[in-house]
This record gives sequence, C-alpha cells and structure tokens, in this order.
Amino acid sequence: RLSKRLETVASFIPKGAKLADIGSDHAYLPCYAYLHGYITKAVAGEVADGPLRSAKQQVERTGLKDVISVRKGDGLEVIKPGEVDCITIAGMGGTLIANILEAGKDKLLGVKRLILQPNVGAHIVRKWLLDHDWELIAERILEEEGKIYEVLVAEKGDGKRPYENIETELLLGPFLLKEKNDVFLKKWRHELAHWKQIYRQLNEKAETESAIAKKRELEKKMKMVEEA
Ligand code: SAM
Repeated sequence: RLSKRLETVASFIPKGAKLADIGSDHAYLPCYAYLHGYITKAVAGEVADGPLRSAKQQVERTGLKDVISVRKGDGLEVIKPGEVDCITIAGMGGTLIANILEAGKDKLLGVKRLILQPNVGAHIVRKWLLDHDWELIAERILEEEGKIYEVLVAEKGDGKRPYENIETELLLGPFLLKEKNDVFLKKWRHELAHWKQIYRQLNEKAETESAIAKKRELEKKMKMVEEA
C-alpha cells in the first residue's frame, strides 16, 4: 500500500500520462501509477546511488522494466525534451523543488502538469510557479503519521489566476485557504504558536538591528495568518 501522501500525489496524474518522477527513491510512485492505470510509461530519476539501487530493484521486482526507466541524474537532466507530459517531485523541501524546476526549465516544454509535494516551504514553490506562468489548479493538505504535507498541482497557463490576496495566499495556499480544513487550521495554529515563542525570545534579547528585522518579519507573517 502506498502512503496517503503519495496516493494523493498519484491521484492528480492525468490518465495516460508519460510521467517523470524526480527524486523517486524506491520508485513506489511510478510503479503504483502504472499498476493503477494512470500512466503509460515513466522515468524515475534519482541523484543518489542508494535510492537509485532501490528504485531499480523495485521496478524489477514489479516486472515493470519495460515501462519504467530508472535513470541516475540531477533533477530534470534525466529526461529528454518532450519525453514526458507530467512531472512529480515529492518528499523534498520547497527550495530544492524550486531549484530543480529552475535548473531544468528547458525540459518543461511539452510538460502539461506538475504535481509537487514540498515537505516544507510550499510558499517557495508557489512563488516559482507564479513567476514562471504555471497556474496553480489544485492543492491538498493532509496529515499522515503526525506530519502535515501539502500537494500543489499546476498547469502551464496564467500563473496569476488563483490569487486574490497574493502575499497571504502565496504563504497559505489560495485553495487551502478557501477550504480551511482541520489539517490546515492545525498547521497554521501550530506555526503561529511557534512564531509567537520566537517573538518572545527576540523581545528578551538586545534590540540589535537583525533582531528588529526578524521581529518585523514575524509580525507581518503573524498578522497574515491571524487575519486568515
Ligand atoms: N519522492 C519520494 C517520496 O516522496 O517518497 C522520495 C522522497 S526522498 C525523501 C527524496 C529523494 O530525492 C531522495 O532519494 C534523494 O536522493 C532525491 N533527490 C534529492 N535531490 C535530488 C535531485 N536534485 N535530483 C534527483 N533526486 C534528488
């Protein structure tokens, strides 16, 4: 059984897609996607030897060597231009996901959908999508084994569309903010409590320039989240 997190990612893969799963590790996602009829073929990309080995083993064990090509490489360098039409990048920080997309921009021509699951820093991924005309079309937030995950789905188009109050929605997610489900509320209540604690600690310190700057930044974020 696939984790709820990866199942959520898989649920957004369009039927018949040619998929690249970047940072695939054990290649569970592309194997699952093929066996459930989501995709016709896939590239599983990995930069590290251990995960690469386990991806190869998993693909062989599942009997999918002909349809899932496991390749070693950094980010999108494992795919040829036009080879895939859907890319998944899951289980990494938002900065790494944005860096992978930025470095592989030329490989995105012909890609119709990106499904991205940052463990932290989802706002960095939203900002990258916005700046590169990828329109956010759906978002999910879910909790699994005490951890909270966000899934962002984007298609090539007008990156600005879902946003009304851009600063707040880049941070919180325009769809997630509208839905405001229990996991979303839990995440942001938790963040807010954490920021308040940092703020109190900063207050106890000397008024250095950097402490003041940090406090202003926190005040801004706390205000956005509290208002939301
Ligand atoms: N995608 C799987 C998932 O969500 O369960 C695996 C997530 S695992 C925590 C992150 C994987 O990304 C690691 O196996 C790591 O080697 C790989 N990775 C990190 N940076 C990468 C890069 N620039 N290109 C390809 N793979 C990368």
